Amino acid sequence: MSLHGDYDEQNIFAKIIRGEAPCYKLYEDDEVLAFLDVFPQSFGHSLVIPKQVQARNILEIDSASLAKVMAVVQRLTRALVDELQPAGVQVAQFNGAPAGQTVFHIHMHVIPRFTGESLGIHASAKADPAELEQLQARLLARLG
Ligand code: 5GP
Repeated sequence: MSLHGDYDEQNIFAKIIRGEAPCYKLYEDDEVLAFLDVFPQSFGHSLVIPKQVQARNILEIDSASLAKVMAVVQRLTRALVDELQPAGVQVAQFNGAPAGQTVFHIHMHVIPRFTGESLGIHASAKADPAELEQLQARLLARLG
């Protein structure tokens, strides 16, 4: 799938929003959902998505919805930094397969970076569920 095309209602994030697929939820309100990436590129790799808009990428989302997503990105980044004490944090967003996009519902990556640790391969190795559960509990306590 490229930069242009139709929104597929069966994409995995649409299923997560509808409750048809599970996620390690970190934050939810009427418009925005944040959860752990199950193929993390670093410890704490999280995703933030809009719930009400069927936008595949940054070209398609309205600016008000994007602003709501970014407010949650900032809040989550603060919680990740407080809890995990990374040396840096990457906030990333890909548009179109050639840019690295694999799920075609717009999302922001929040990726803590630790000194001496290189970035894991994108969407590659599935994390241990027990580790994700523990991490979720730690971050929920921060986001409270
Ligand atoms: P993209 O490549 O589209 O920018 O990012 C998609 C992200 O979604 C990847 O980082 C990938 O690891 C993650 N991902 C793919 N399938 C699932 C899933 O079922 N659950 C969760 N939580 N993340 C997923």
